Amino acid sequence: MLFFPDLALLLNGTLLLQPAAPAPVHHLLLDSRRVGQLAGAVFFAIRGAQHNGHRYLPELYQRGVRLFVVDQEAEIPGGAAAYPEAGILLVADSLRALQALAAHHRRQFRVPVFGITGSNGKTIVKEWLAQVLSPDELICKSPRSYNSQVGVPLSVWELNPSHTLGIFEAGISERGEMPRLAEVIQPTLGIFTNLGTAHDAGFSSAAEKAAEKMQLFLAPRPKNQDPKTPTPQGLNPGVDLLFYCRDHEAVHAAALRHLPARCTFTWSRHHPHEAQVAVTMMEASAERTVVQVRLTSPLPQEHTFSLPFADEPSVENALHVLAVLLWKQVPSDAIQRRLDRLAPVAMRLEMKQALNDCYVLDDTYNNDLAGLTLALDMLARQPRRGRRTLILSDVLESGIPAAELYPQIGTLLSAHGVERLIGVGPEISQFRHVFARLESGFYNRTEDFLGDFRPEQFQHETILVKGARRFGFERIVAAFQQKIHGTVLEVNLDALVHNLNYYRARLRPGTRLMVMVKAFAYGSGSYEVANLLQFHRADYLAVAYTDEGVELRQHGISLPVMVMNPSPDAFQKLQQYHLEPEIYSFERLHDYLRIAAEHPRPLPAIHLKLDTGMHRLGFTEEDLPELCRLLRENAKLVRVASALTHLAGADEEQHNSFSRQQLAAFERMVPVLEEALGYRVLRHALNSAGILRFPEAQFEMVRLGIGLYGVEAAGREQDALRPVSTLQTTISQIKALAPGQTVGYGRRGAAVDYERRIATLAIGYADGYDRRFGNGIGEVVIRGRRAPIVGSVCMDMCMADVTHIPEARPGDLAQVFGPDLTLTELAARIGTIPYELLTNVSERVKRVFFAE
Ligand SMILES: *Cc1c(COP(=O)(O)O)cnc(C)c1O
Repeated sequence: MLFFPDLALLLNGTLLLQPAAPAPVHHLLLDSRRVGQLAGAVFFAIRGAQHNGHRYLPELYQRGVRLFVVDQEAEIPGGAAAYPEAGILLVADSLRALQALAAHHRRQFRVPVFGITGSNGKTIVKEWLAQVLSPDELICKSPRSYNSQVGVPLSVWELNPSHTLGIFEAGISERGEMPRLAEVIQPTLGIFTNLGTAHDAGFSSAAEKAAEKMQLFLAPRPKNQDPKTPTPQGLNPGVDLLFYCRDHEAVHAAALRHLPARCTFTWSRHHPHEAQVAVTMMEASAERTVVQVRLTSPLPQEHTFSLPFADEPSVENALHVLAVLLWKQVPSDAIQRRLDRLAPVAMRLEMKQALNDCYVLDDTYNNDLAGLTLALDMLARQPRRGRRTLILSDVLESGIPAAELYPQIGTLLSAHGVERLIGVGPEISQFRHVFARLESGFYNRTEDFLGDFRPEQFQHETILVKGARRFGFERIVAAFQQKIHGTVLEVNLDALVHNLNYYRARLRPGTRLMVMVKAFAYGSGSYEVANLLQFHRADYLAVAYTDEGVELRQHGISLPVMVMNPSPDAFQKLQQYHLEPEIYSFERLHDYLRIAAEHPRPLPAIHLKLDTGMHRLGFTEEDLPELCRLLRENAKLVRVASALTHLAGADEEQHNSFSRQQLAAFERMVPVLEEALGYRVLRHALNSAGILRFPEAQFEMVRLGIGLYGVEAAGREQDALRPVSTLQTTISQIKALAPGQTVGYGRRGAAVDYERRIATLAIGYADGYDRRFGNGIGEVVIRGRRAPIVGSVCMDMCMADVTHIPEARPGDLAQVFGPDLTLTELAARIGTIPYELLTNVSERVKRVFFAE
């Protein structure tokens, strides 16, 4: 066991404060928002481009965290003395210290450890490898895709003495990163999945990228239990064996350069004589691929296996796993059985709308302790809406005896605010007494729970469904999901965060960020998006109408909210829900002042809208004297939080000089107001396009809108953003039309002289699919190919021509917009803008939110 003071020596740091009590180190904490267990938690204050962990010391201390590692003594809020009961260690670099601590932990173990890297497939290969090896091993693996500079140390920290194997993935985006991950993982075995074009930006060539990734397999590391070639210090440099596909030339070249041939184990389809495993593709159906493998080592032999996949990436990933099984000399019938159980990995945690206004967090793929902790973090981050319920299976392969494991889980559940637990499985049922303080129910099998399932027992709650694969919890999720009409809008929360950070990185330090969540967050679902923004510490939200703001408050959003168009009859609500109105005219100002005068308590602060050329809403320069007079006379009744203006042509070059005039007018007007008020206010003028095009005009705040949702309005940096929303529908039916037959109302899907296959799709104009897309103007993407819309778009349906996609079937998904069909392209086809398409998606379309 490691005690906090020992870290000073280990991490070459200085103890600013000795902890008051004996302080064993159990948990590493990086994110102040994710505090699980307090006892033995050490917070590493890490500074990044966008955040500074030192800022959170007071909050963490107040919540009971007592151990801190910092790298800037001057940035400890209030100084070290403000934390009398804490232990504080000052190091040169907190991130390096975290990595060094994890590396030290890793060195305590002599078990084999796989390091996995490559451009694609890392997480899937890791999950599958763990699946096929789990009959023989007790495995510690990275949760989800924890493969970064901070994710890797946290993953490796979970290794404990009962594990017989570690499997960790490493991902990098620039030079110099891999050696640090290698030092933490210290792999004895490696898998290099492939080399694609992802993250190319940080590297000048494929060879350079391959060489950097190869560093993972070259780190010194402890000897295995059965050392092959002991080296003087008991350390082996590099992996004993690297698995890869010989056909990736850049990978192969890097391996040849850096590792002796005896340290590689390769498979190949195109160079059968240069690999230990020669693979021949035999046949492929829609669901399976049959491969023949010829092995030259360890013994010459030939086998045929059937892989439960048909798509190219899955087949490649499965072949990596197969190579490891062959090398381990697992009997071929056992290999086939294990391959049969491989299933596509649900890489994402999904939040789904469910019956009785519940939300289900669907995480039914695996259930180890690290995965459970992550899922609980996500649950705890959801705003309060009724109870927080957890449906949990036995936790398998934790490497911790059940008598210790379940009490630990009990602590985790209370730390994350779980109020109700439904346990499924013999083991969790046996330990039910541990959860006595929660409302709870226990079942031995999933079937027993389903047999007992009564929807009315779940109302307005957020339900995390977390189960090991063998419990088949996807049946529970299905039971919770209302019959959904075939169309869903998928909202990728990771893409949203990516876009948020993209714009944030453009801001000068200290510039505040207001995010526009008006119009149901541009159609994406207001409170879910607002909740994410709150978590990622946006400074302000803005909505169009008071009711939108009320809804945010009712869903637990506590950020300041500006309401752009408050109607005077709703001013009471502004007070009640603490929403800050935008005031853009003398009428509104008089309404506000009248109500403020009648009110015993001060009304929320206001935002003054200045019209500098948009000519929509706002006070003009001529209005200023009168406005100033009113503000001065009513100084006691009104507090002004900000002054804003809106640019009429921020996205277009041709309006640049007009935009500059607007900004100049704004800069003239605000000081006049401030003079009258006697204090400074926040100034903001830029929307998404403006943030990118007028960086000099950020003032104290900017207003991010469409860019967050993945559309770059100025059209210059679209590639840097990630699409957030995918509108997806399904094929309800497919009809064969003889030559001469027409499609739909008014017979507008005109006859042709050949036979057609026409797919009826479950989306129409009532879902927000514009009628202008009818008659060949619009397209959808089915099985990766475009299919034109034929005939008119109906209220709930429309038709697409799939003659050229013979494999299309009823039930197939059709992408209406998303990564394969951009909003910008679609908008151009019907002469509108992406904003309209996004906000048109009707509220009856279910939103599914997911994080990768
Ligand atoms: C909607 C809106 C924005 C955001 O505009 P985008 O082009 O979506 O970035 C900014 N300011 C005001 C006043 C708005 O109404």
